[in-house]
Amino acid sequence: MAAPVIAVVDAGITGLAAALALRAAGIDIIVFEQATAFKRIGAAINLTPNAVKVLDGLGIGNDLRRSAHVPAYRISRNWDTGEITSKVELGTAALERYGVTPLLLHRADLLTALESAVPPGAIRFGKKLQHLEPQGDKVRLEFEDGTQLYADGVIGADGIHSITRRELFGPETPLFTGMSAYRSLIARDRITGQDFDSFVKWWGPVPECQLVTFLINRGRELFIFATMPETEHTRESWSAAGEIEMLRTYFAGFHADARAVLDACDSTLRTALNERPPLEHWSSGNATLIGDACHAMMPFMAQGAAMGLEDAAVLSRCVQADKEWGTALARYERVRKERAHKIQLGSHQNQWLRQGAISADNPFNDPDWVYGYDAWTTDLL
Ligand SMILES: Cc1cc2nc3c(=O)[nH]c(=O)nc-3n(C[C@H](O)[C@H](O)[C@H](O)COP(=O)(O)OP(=O)(O)OC[C@H]3O[C@@H](n4cnc5c(N)ncnc54)[C@H](O)[C@@H]3O)c2cc1C
Repeated sequence: MAAPVIAVVDAGITGLAAALALRAAGIDIIVFEQATAFKRIGAAINLTPNAVKVLDGLGIGNDLRRSAHVPAYRISRNWDTGEITSKVELGTAALERYGVTPLLLHRADLLTALESAVPPGAIRFGKKLQHLEPQGDKVRLEFEDGTQLYADGVIGADGIHSITRRELFGPETPLFTGMSAYRSLIARDRITGQDFDSFVKWWGPVPECQLVTFLINRGRELFIFATMPETEHTRESWSAAGEIEMLRTYFAGFHADARAVLDACDSTLRTALNERPPLEHWSSGNATLIGDACHAMMPFMAQGAAMGLEDAAVLSRCVQADKEWGTALARYERVRKERAHKIQLGSHQNQWLRQGAISADNPFNDPDWVYGYDAWTTDLL
């Protein structure tokens, strides 16, 4: 009997993670990516312990540790007074509590580690998916270059503007949130007199307005991430320039420590922020969605990539447990949906770890249910 052909649509963070996890589970996959080669774009990424556990299971955690920074604390500060409103101990405390520390690093380092682990022959570049159709126990994929393929299973990991999602569940445009995100990277030693060992989030006068700082590259570079309301900018881009002066003006009322960080930036990148509402079904026939394709969310809990990585690990375990592809996808959706939707909602509400005290009516002040999740051992229901 011929081995099943499983197509992963694309080579982003979650597509590559799914490819690695499935290969480790003994499933042969082919990855189809629209780009003609890998590109080094983006800035930094906060990989929380739940994400790091997945990457360790994929065998690339130690590669990432070589360039990452491990934060001592996750701190929330009030925008004008500078008061600390929440402080979660990470570093050794996270190691003891969750088994791993979080890792702060450049996105390019994460993508390079994932790419290097997937055999080059498994990735087909220049393959933009145009059309997809479940046909009995197969799925037909049609690419922009006119080629087509019948696969036994399809994993759509093609991001927030997913074609796989459109083809399976109909057209639905991502929602523009009315916010822009700004990203800058500077040498750590450009600012003196401040301790940057921790991940710090400054909470602004309105929820849309926040400033985050953290070190990457073994503490040598400082990443600055700001969001603000901006309804006139709708362009999504990992590489478009923003205006640093305008950003400084907008944050002019912030505490001197926050202003000093923006003053030290020479340039910044801007992107509009979009999100998706929770999706009722993730799978249809032998095709399913993972990562941003099914649950693109706001970046306020730093869980977008983490959820895609968890999806990949759980999906590979379901495929191993069930053998029959359709049954495995149904189980995958059952296991993943509630958690991913709760995190999508929490990211939208943007209250995650704002205050120190955990209250019954606000689970978003309790890090354990997010950071303590282990996609390799969670109950497969
Ligand atoms: C400003 C910002 C900061 C963030 N910070 C964090 C953070 O600190 N921590 C965290 O966990 N998450 C973070 N996220 C979320 C994270 O970036 C995303 O969740 C993650 O990149 C999603 O990965 P993905 O592989 O699902 O999708 P994508 O990264 O969008 O990858 C999609 C891939 O699909 C390809 N593709 C698209 N269409 C097609 C097609 N038709 N055919 C073939 N290929 C196709 C693309 O070329 C791309 O390679 C942040 C997001 C933003 C916007």
